[in-house]
Amino acid sequence: MKKLFSLLIIYSLSIPLTFAQQETSSFYATMALIDAEELQKEYPNEIEIIAKRRNEAAVFMSEEVSHKLHGRVLVHGPGFIYKSSETEAKQSLQKDDIKAVSNKMAFTITEDTMVNQAMNAIDTQNIENHITELENYGTRYHTSNSANQSAQDLKTKWETMASTYNRTDVSVRLVSHNSTPMKSVVMTIQGSEFPDEFVIVGGHLDSTSSQGNNDAPGADDDASGIATITEAARTLFEIGFQPKRTIEVMAYAAEEVGLRGSAEIAADYKTNNVNVIAVGQFDMTNYNGSANDVYFIDDNTDSTLNDFFKQLMDHYNTSGNHQLTYSTAVCNYGCSDHASWNSQGYPASFPFEANFSQYNPNIHTRNDTFSISGTAEHATKFAKLCSEFLIEIAKNDATLSTPEFEEEGYYFYVKNKILTYNISQTSMEVENINMYDINGRKVLQKKNIISSGNISLNSLSSGIYVITLSLKDQRQLSKKIILD
Ligand SMILES: [Zn+2]
Repeated sequence: MKKLFSLLIIYSLSIPLTFAQQETSSFYATMALIDAEELQKEYPNEIEIIAKRRNEAAVFMSEEVSHKLHGRVLVHGPGFIYKSSETEAKQSLQKDDIKAVSNKMAFTITEDTMVNQAMNAIDTQNIENHITELENYGTRYHTSNSANQSAQDLKTKWETMASTYNRTDVSVRLVSHNSTPMKSVVMTIQGSEFPDEFVIVGGHLDSTSSQGNNDAPGADDDASGIATITEAARTLFEIGFQPKRTIEVMAYAAEEVGLRGSAEIAADYKTNNVNVIAVGQFDMTNYNGSANDVYFIDDNTDSTLNDFFKQLMDHYNTSGNHQLTYSTAVCNYGCSDHASWNSQGYPASFPFEANFSQYNPNIHTRNDTFSISGTAEHATKFAKLCSEFLIEIAKNDATLSTPEFEEEGYYFYVKNKILTYNISQTSMEVENINMYDINGRKVLQKKNIISSGNISLNSLSSGIYVITLSLKDQRQLSKKIILD
């Protein structure tokens, strides 16, 4: 990745004289030519068009004028794509439309049992709580302290979630950027069989507001997307899903100021030849503004992957309980982070909450709060779609996800609401047995375990639980069970 130092040199060498006084707050970007020309008329001293091609322009503009775009563009998103130098801005204009090469072999539908378990386990209340939690920062504007606090807190939340389910195959990292002080957050679930093949879902963690960036709750745009992908990931842990391919869940920094976080991450993956099989973008999922549930953005996305998403819905709609309807829509420019992946040649899709112009009218204002929707039902549908996508492309490793404890002289099973265990044939020393419900709450604890015995589970209602044996040598054995 580029160092901040070289970035500053590029800036100072290439800034035209008229912009010298705005050196600290002006930057390069690409945007629709029509927008650039209108801004030029209105603010001739604040934006310079440095190159044009077809219906696109490369510009050098002040930060102030970039905010004017939020109000002008008909679609959501920043209205421009940030570029770190004049050269980069001009070069990206010369790029012809990139065609991603999809690995169609990876797009099969075989995991009905797991997907249906996951969809049943998705909890609307969790999504609502998470949206409210993010809204309560007041702002997550990329330069604010609370933006980085929200990134730090999300890292902790994801780590806690993984450890609740004893997932030693999960790690969470903060990613620093050159073009924004805000950090992105990335959770990695290591693939067991093809760890070098990546399946990615993401949304942006930052927010913005035309009424002042200290008042930018960003509930739908895009706390909803972050809550959606978080709940989908939690569900995978709950059902004991162990991916064969590596899954990454990403909360991008600074999308609202030109896709900055995702652009750096996607470029970094390209530079390092990371094999990304598919990317799903979840930006605004909780406003039910149109006749259908989901609208697939047609431009700057991969048509093969879009088709696969639609096949997933057709397939899982037949199971009855999780019907999702869909259609297509267009953005007319790189309106969210999927465009960062698409421009590096990675297959990306962007399922969106509503049709063109029917999306949440409160975004980018202080009124983008959870109360506008009042329920997380719409986002729940996207969490289901997200789990269909992750499970079917990453595929479950059955040998890992059904750990039977009979091996090596110990066993552990549940039948007729009685938990039976026997460790007498092993050298294991068990400290205690804990049991958790689907929300990670501890519902049972037995200490001073002897070498064999039965524990009645009659007091527990039916549902999915995780049983954990904590050994004296710090190891843990976990098993997911379903109580009838
Ligand atoms: Zn957004």
